[in-house]
Amino acid sequence: MNYSSDYLVRARVCEAAQEHYCLRFEDGAECDAVPAGVLRWSAELPAVGDWVLARRADATLALIENVEPRTTCISRQRPGGGGEQVLAANVDLIAIVMGLDGDYNLRRLERYLVLAAASGAEAMVALNKMDVCAEWSARLANALLGESRQATQPVRESDSRGRHTTTRRMLIELPDGGALIDTPGLRELALWAGQDSVDDVFADIAALARQCRFHDCAHEGEPGCAVSAALKTGELEPARWASYQKLLAEARYHERSVDQRATAETKRKWKAIHKAMRHHPKYNR
Ligand SMILES: [Zn+2]
Repeated sequence: MNYSSDYLVRARVCEAAQEHYCLRFEDGAECDAVPAGVLRWSAELPAVGDWVLARRADATLALIENVEPRTTCISRQRPGGGGEQVLAANVDLIAIVMGLDGDYNLRRLERYLVLAAASGAEAMVALNKMDVCAEWSARLANALLGESRQATQPVRESDSRGRHTTTRRMLIELPDGGALIDTPGLRELALWAGQDSVDDVFADIAALARQCRFHDCAHEGEPGCAVSAALKTGELEPARWASYQKLLAEARYHERSVDQRATAETKRKWKAIHKAMRHHPKYNR
């Protein structure tokens, strides 16, 4: 393979930390990389899992010139606000691994599932540390997934390494030709997802809401409200209902802020175009 600076070579981002990347080329060679100037100014910085076109800057460093369109994209709201942060790109299957000990948290799992639904990838839930929890099957509580398409799969594994201390995201190649992206240390996961993704994960509640007498039912005691009825009979668990409402509110907020951001971005672009036109000699004769 020719790595000379004249050539753009296809590679996959196998490690990402801030603006420093490691690329793996199709022949297996690896190289450190930074985004080229043109990418640095765009919002589309590469993420782990991305396929990119890169150019050799020197023997040890490559410049990432172009990011290929993503098939799937796992995103969260950047901690502290400030838009989208892509955690991993081009992922086929998301495995949400959760311990059945102190780590187990149904509400957090629901949040992960909404993020997974928004990503476009398939999702599975893997519960580990089963040895410390004899009642895992009861806790697995398939009902928590409602009628959603995600499968649950128990994984027997005793992992004594403890919590990951790094937040680097890495792509690890598997012997069968696949690849695994590890995204440890995700403590904060503000949604980067729309209402559809919430309804996807809470398909049981979405189905109930469709049975309400009024199509704009707020589920606050209106006559013929199927959600209120299900809460009364115990068919719908109050904690699950509360979780749905919380995530739905967050998804609505996300949709509004994306709209506002897009409007502001369009305004900014036109302002720049008008300014450029004013300074163009053609318009200043
Ligand atoms: Zn209702």
